[in-house]
Order: sequence, then C-alpha cells, then structure tokens
Amino acid sequence: MNEPETKPPAPGPQNTEKAETAIEIVTCPECGRRLLTKTSMLCNWCGAKINDQDYQARAALNRLERDQQERTDLEVVIQEEAELGILGRLRRLGKQNKANGRSDTPL
Ligand SMILES: [Zn+2]
Repeated sequence: MNEPETKPPAPGPQNTEKAETAIEIVTCPECGRRLLTKTSMLCNWCGAKINDQDYQARAALNRLERDQQERTDLEVVIQEEAELGILGRLRRLGKQNKANGRSDTPL
C-alpha cells in the first residue's frame, strides 16, 4: 500500500553539513565569463569545453543526481497510474491540491 505523501520534511543532517569545499571552476577558461550551471560540460556562453577534471566529475555527478531524482519522480507516477489508473491519479491529485492548498513539487 502507498504511504501518505504528507510526510513532514525530515530535519536532515545533509542540510547542515557541507559536502566538500574543493575549489570549483566557476568561470569559463575560454571566455572568462561566469558559468550559469555546474551540470553542463560546456561553457554556457561560448560552448567551450571546461577543461578541468574535477569540474567534469562534479558536473557528471550533478547530472546523475538530477536524472535519478527525475526517474524517482517518474516511477512514483508510473506506479500510481498502474494502481489507480490515470483517472484515479488525477482525481487523487485534485483532492490533494484542495486539501493542501499547494503542490508538492517545487517551481
Ligand atoms: Zn566560455
């Protein structure tokens, strides 16, 4: 059975501890402009590849984390649809929104 989705946000220890404080490249070595994201292999401005192993490793990791998060979200939806059918899911979402007055998803 599904757990109710209205769990209180856990006071995670991951919020307080800094993962690492390594030096990060935040400007493009080619054009010298500040990078907009840390997940792209390429400069957001001129398209040059950021030639830094640490940066690339971090960018790959960030992309992986983002992908996994999206996949997890998607799996919840797929599983729910399999159990309730899409109409059941929409009906439940409608109820939830009325009850909570807000959506659980950021943005
Ligand atoms: Zn650049």
